[in-house]
Amino acid sequence: MTFHILTLFPEMIHAGLEHSVIGRASENGIIKLNTVNIRDFSGNKHGHVDDYPYGGGVGMVMQAKPIYDAYMSIRPLLSENTPFIYLSPQGAPFKQAKAQQLSAEKDIVLLCGHYEGVDERIIEELVTEEISIGDYVLTGGELGAMVIVDAVSRLIPGVLNKNESFMDESFSDDLLEYPQYTRPPEFMGRKVPDVLLSGNHGEIAKWRREKQIERTRQKRPDMLKQK
Ligand code: SAM
Repeated sequence: MTFHILTLFPEMIHAGLEHSVIGRASENGIIKLNTVNIRDFSGNKHGHVDDYPYGGGVGMVMQAKPIYDAYMSIRPLLSENTPFIYLSPQGAPFKQAKAQQLSAEKDIVLLCGHYEGVDERIIEELVTEEISIGDYVLTGGELGAMVIVDAVSRLIPGVLNKNESFMDESFSDDLLEYPQYTRPPEFMGRKVPDVLLSGNHGEIAKWRREKQIERTRQKRPDMLKQK
């Protein structure tokens, strides 16, 4: 899969995603990060890509044309139905189910806004969906794009190795994951539950399921209500 990221700060994206699991997937060619610097399409020698908002008010707005031209530079690489996602606090909250859905795509375009956001006509003309990574306002869309690249990439076959599975993870069955332990069997007087040392796989599976329900009820009762 190729993530085409339209941004004013490509170096942020590469710095954030070239390590660990996603960095490895990138090196192995399972995913590709194609960052496009919107400033390269400013069309003026100063590299300005923003302007004052019509109607007045504080802040600057990213102009439509540089974003449009940046998109047109990659358009030949995309299909008719390639999702064009604008990272925005006004978007639909990003959920695991959306990550799952996006993991089947061949290409995804991610537009990172800055300042007061982008000219509305870009949203009307190009954007197929707006996604928010939470109910707070960030300075730019780059962190949101990185969140999406990370969450989507790890669902692509071959990105996680056999020791890193997403099968039983939080949200995979609308439940949070069960508690995890590793060696030693006792730490600061706290013991690993006996059942996990028993070797009885049936009992372990039953205990884990009960814990998933119990902790989802404690930590995210809203998820259980939906289920
Ligand atoms: N003026 C905009 C508003 O009130 O809706 C906020 C603009 S914000 C300061 C600048 C950029 O950061 C946005 O264009 C968007 O790309 C990104 N951004 C901010 N908060 C975000 C969030 N919660 N999720 C995703 N992207 C966000």
